[in-house]
Amino acid sequence: MTVQLVSLNGVVDRWPEPMLLLDHARFLDANAAALELLGYADLGELQGRHPTELSPATQSDGRRSLPAAEEILRRAHAGEPLRFTWTHLKKDGSPFTVDVSLAPIPVEARFLLLCAWHDQTERLQEQQELIESEARFRGFFERNASVMLVVDPESAAIVDANAAAVAFYGWSRAELVQMRITEINQLSPEEVAAARARAAREEQNHFEFVHGLASGELRDVEVHSTPIHQGGRLLLLSIIHDITLRKRAEAELRLAAAVFEHSREGIVVTDAQATIVKVNRAFPGLTGYSAEEMLGKNPRVLASGRHDRAFYEAMWATLRREGRWAGELRNRRKDGELYAELLSVSAVPDAQGAPAYYVGLFTDITVQKHHEAQLERLAHHDALTGLPSRRLLLDRLQQALLHARRSGHPVAVVYLDLDGFKAVNDVHGHGVGDQLLTLIAHRFRGCLREGDTIARLGGDEFVAVLVDLPEVDAARPVLERLLAAASLPVEVEGRGLQVGASLGVSVFPQHDAVDADQLLRQADHAMYQAKLSGKGRFHFFDVDHDRSVRAQLENLGRIGRALENDEFHLWYQPQVNLRTGAVVGVEALVRWAHPERGLLLPGAFLPAIEGDPLVCRLTDRVLERALRQQRAWREAGLDLPVSVNIASRDLQDPAFPMRLGEALARHPDVPHGRLSLEVLETRAIEDPSQAAAAIRACRQLGVGFALDDFGTGYCTLAYLKSLPVQRLKIDRTFVRDMLEDADDLAILEGVLGLAGAFRLEAMAEGVESTEHARVLLSLGCELGQGFGIARPMPGAEVAGWVAGWRPDPAWKRAARPA
Ligand code: C2E
Ligand code: CA
Ligand code: CA
Repeated sequence: MTVQLVSLNGVVDRWPEPMLLLDHARFLDANAAALELLGYADLGELQGRHPTELSPATQSDGRRSLPAAEEILRRAHAGEPLRFTWTHLKKDGSPFTVDVSLAPIPVEARFLLLCAWHDQTERLQEQQELIESEARFRGFFERNASVMLVVDPESAAIVDANAAAVAFYGWSRAELVQMRITEINQLSPEEVAAARARAAREEQNHFEFVHGLASGELRDVEVHSTPIHQGGRLLLLSIIHDITLRKRAEAELRLAAAVFEHSREGIVVTDAQATIVKVNRAFPGLTGYSAEEMLGKNPRVLASGRHDRAFYEAMWATLRREGRWAGELRNRRKDGELYAELLSVSAVPDAQGAPAYYVGLFTDITVQKHHEAQLERLAHHDALTGLPSRRLLLDRLQQALLHARRSGHPVAVVYLDLDGFKAVNDVHGHGVGDQLLTLIAHRFRGCLREGDTIARLGGDEFVAVLVDLPEVDAARPVLERLLAAASLPVEVEGRGLQVGASLGVSVFPQHDAVDADQLLRQADHAMYQAKLSGKGRFHFFDVDHDRSVRAQLENLGRIGRALENDEFHLWYQPQVNLRTGAVVGVEALVRWAHPERGLLLPGAFLPAIEGDPLVCRLTDRVLERALRQQRAWREAGLDLPVSVNIASRDLQDPAFPMRLGEALARHPDVPHGRLSLEVLETRAIEDPSQAAAAIRACRQLGVGFALDDFGTGYCTLAYLKSLPVQRLKIDRTFVRDMLEDADDLAILEGVLGLAGAFRLEAMAEGVESTEHARVLLSLGCELGQGFGIARPMPGAEVAGWVAGWRPDPAWKRAARPA
């Protein structure tokens, strides 16, 4: 007995919970925890007592303690392990309830009973805590602003969803708990597996998925899952964060980073104190400074000293006030070279709205500025004679017309062309020719009154504008003086020279409205008449004759009839690549096969209908003819792009894109991109935004655009930027005179530079000789058209010409521009 007691003692004593040993239904032993719970000081007070002595008469469930205890003890002593709840009394008489486990231990043919008490009060408390924690969990779950789902990991069924989840997904709670999480997750099983693998690799406890909402919208989400136990089940509590915006922001950041790095513009980022924190890849190429050299510096190191403090202060004031600044700046490269840049700076605000960074974007516009300045200078003044140029002349003429409208005094426009000047150049050289021009220009100036203008258009062509005439005839003495001034002998470098002049005159006002451009053309026309009738004289443009012809034409519907009778034909002039010899297209030029007057060139009838609606009918006819001709060529195996001239009136006609579309629709067999239109520079820019819109509409139809006679009008950088044309056709007067006239050569170079800067094709008109082609090629102009290549010809002759065309072998070898 003692032996067994000792052997059990160790277990009982070491047990942390109350444990007792019973033998023959009497307490035999108890550990410290049991004694403490019962309130006994030592084992002796307990030993030998029957359990019912330590029990109230009735148990909490109403059973009488004694019979119940006897029944339990009988079964236990028979070897049955038992579990039950029992209320005991402490030594002081207070009751306590425990869960009792009775384990019968076989000892010498009978059973000792090992009795373990689990304190029920503790378990109740645990239960209470559990109940409370579940309530807490529900509160946490329900009221949480985060979207939460409880998911069964086995079946993927959604077991629970909180209010935020209902709001986010757009399904009701009832609907959600009918669904599986796999119906919401839009990733394929493979993608889900990959997301999990990625999370495992990066030791993250969250995954990035794509969830679909009731609305069909997709959202990027980040899902955090935690295992929870509920009702004995292992479930997953998933907390879902919508990271769509963050993802978008990340994508935008990546894009921004790519733009930053790959931009051809220089980008520099500074902190709020204007210390450079980042420059992009383009930066070193533009400034000569490497990124390492610039980091930590102030952009001031680029300053050229060309701007004063006030300039920078104004720039910073604008930046602070408006958060942005844009303008032109002159800076200095590391090697000291000055350059012009177009800079735009924006402040990047922090969360409080104070500037955190400044981002500056700049492009080098030195080349453009140079061309612009060159064109500007050349555009306003003639370098040789110092006289105003065509551009300034047109400005002045327009002013004069405005003034004349108010004062009622006529204006005369005089076109002067020297006779015999080419011979002087040929015999005595350009140096002498230039001096002669300068002297004569000076004399012309002396013939005029205050307020009159004399301009040099180029070569030996001048234009005078005589204002405030009391009557038209008052111009005659001036014209005589001009003629005399031109023909007076001149002495240059000891050589006595003499030339003459032919003058054409047009007058404002006229019966019909005329503009500056028309007046100039009329005067030009009249000057040709003067030359034809023997030079050394002046000729007034015959407005009456012109008008009567026009009136007659209009009255008789002569042009209308000509259209009906199909008297208009197209001739075609080849356009080639001078270097490769390739025929790049043909320009359609209209001819009037007049029954009485023979074949008329456009100059003979176009001015009469320019500005009249009839010109649109002519354009339609020309388009139709050109497209038909194109089909005929295609059938003969010739695929030739055709360029058609249109009138300014067409570009102003809102229906023009539609008219063009209809013409193209009638010829579906003509491939896209085989038609282009030419519009006169001066005309296109009368209303640049309207012209730009019309051009864009036509380009939608696959039709290209060229600015014709480029260089003669007002076209500035700003206009050129706004007109979506692809080609500039350099006016033939510049090309014609470039071999002799340094100014024309300079304008040509300027125009080519501009074309390059704006990525436009440049095509030279008036290529009359091999020499022209050679010089054009050396300037980098490869496209040309002119009598030196081919004169305009009827459509039927084009195929034969193309077959026989061989470019001058010398062109291939012509130098390329440096
Ligand atoms: P443009 O558009 O500048 O056409 C080129 C003119 O220069 C043509 O005169 C052509 O024969 C001429 N040309 C070509 N190469 C040379 C050359 O090497 N040297 C010289 N001195 N001249 C050359 P054309 O055919 O008399 O046409 C005169 C103008 O009439 C054209 O000038 C164009 O503005 C207008 N035009 C021609 N056809 C049409 C048309 O169908 N519709 C409209 N609206 N205008 C047209
Ligand atoms: Ca043209
Ligand atoms: Ca032209």
